[in-house]
Amino acid sequence: MFDTAAQAVVDVDPGERSSLYVCGITPYDATHLGHANTYVAFDLLQRLWRDAGSQVNYVQNVTDVDDPLLERADATGVDWRDLAREQTELFAADMQALRVLPPEHFVGATEAIDWVVEGVVDLLHRDLAYRVPGTDGEPDGDVYFDSRAAADAVWQLGSESHYDESLMLTLSAERGGDPERLGKRDALDPLLWRVKRDGEPFWDGAELGEGRPGWHIECAVIALKCAGGTLTVQGGGSDLIFPHHEFSAGHASALTGEPLAEHFVHTGMVGLDGEKMSKSLGNLVLVSKLRAQGVDPRVIRLVLLGRHYRSDWFYEDALLDQASSRLNAWQSRLATTDSAQAEQVLADVRAALANDLDAPTALAVLDAWAAAPAAADASGAALVRDTVDALLGVNLLGVNLD
Ligand code: ZN
Repeated sequence: MFDTAAQAVVDVDPGERSSLYVCGITPYDATHLGHANTYVAFDLLQRLWRDAGSQVNYVQNVTDVDDPLLERADATGVDWRDLAREQTELFAADMQALRVLPPEHFVGATEAIDWVVEGVVDLLHRDLAYRVPGTDGEPDGDVYFDSRAAADAVWQLGSESHYDESLMLTLSAERGGDPERLGKRDALDPLLWRVKRDGEPFWDGAELGEGRPGWHIECAVIALKCAGGTLTVQGGGSDLIFPHHEFSAGHASALTGEPLAEHFVHTGMVGLDGEKMSKSLGNLVLVSKLRAQGVDPRVIRLVLLGRHYRSDWFYEDALLDQASSRLNAWQSRLATTDSAQAEQVLADVRAALANDLDAPTALAVLDAWAAAPAAADASGAALVRDTVDALLGVNLLGVNLD
């Protein structure tokens, strides 16, 4: 797989036990095709590892308290807890419909507060974090990570993203950071603990004071607690490379002296009809909307599998028709597939996925099988069905059958 930190395609060995952490949603606008693209990609990875006999510990967080969620709740007059619960349920239903195997550990930020407090206190005591004095109406005591003090042989700023400082500053401002905040040792230092403000939810932070967690420390501590050691792979969309993954890796190595993950893997971005898909443009394609329009979730999944996970691409409705034809062709071919053909399909699909999760090539293998001359018997039908089901997560028997 392509490892962002190594900047190369490297061998990823899951071994007998593997662990996968994929950053979860902030539940206020679930689940657009970009989200689905990421979770389906890492679902392929989990399926491939399981096929190889590895016991996979899949961990995912839900950022169920954060600025964008609170802002949306305020703007719509909904309690933030209700919004988070509702959108998390919708996300889970979308994932189930897409046959994404559920995580072993699915942990909300609000369930991980004690772990965050324990971690931040530890960093403060070791001078890898510091308190910022109140300025401009901000209260005293927000805690920030000291990126420079925490740099060591395992992690330095840039070791995952390889971005230069000016790009980091731009992305930090765009993606939840606060490079303009006064009193920080380095403009890029990220927030670990935000002390209580009027009207904001807060938790007991022991010596940190009442407040709520920063975003990157949330993922770092959930990964450490639930995986119990260095992850095999940490994954997410390419828009999480910086600052989120860079700093969650930095926090984890500052806490343990070990790397957060052996490999860092990122998925491409999905746009719509030639434009970036974004909340501000109001052009999100939601999985739940497509389902409500009667689109077979298997067809949605096949659309996603039709592009390599690392590529940036544009969605258009015509892709649904293509995927639907593909599904029909595969289904009608089952009855004339013998076991030799089926064995070949299995071997070729496995090989395609083992090569940096090359799903488009796996689909092409099946298209070639569907177009090949018919066999005299159906002795291979079950094996092809199982291959498509287990490795690609598409059930050729029917949408509601598990
Ligand atoms: Zn995360």
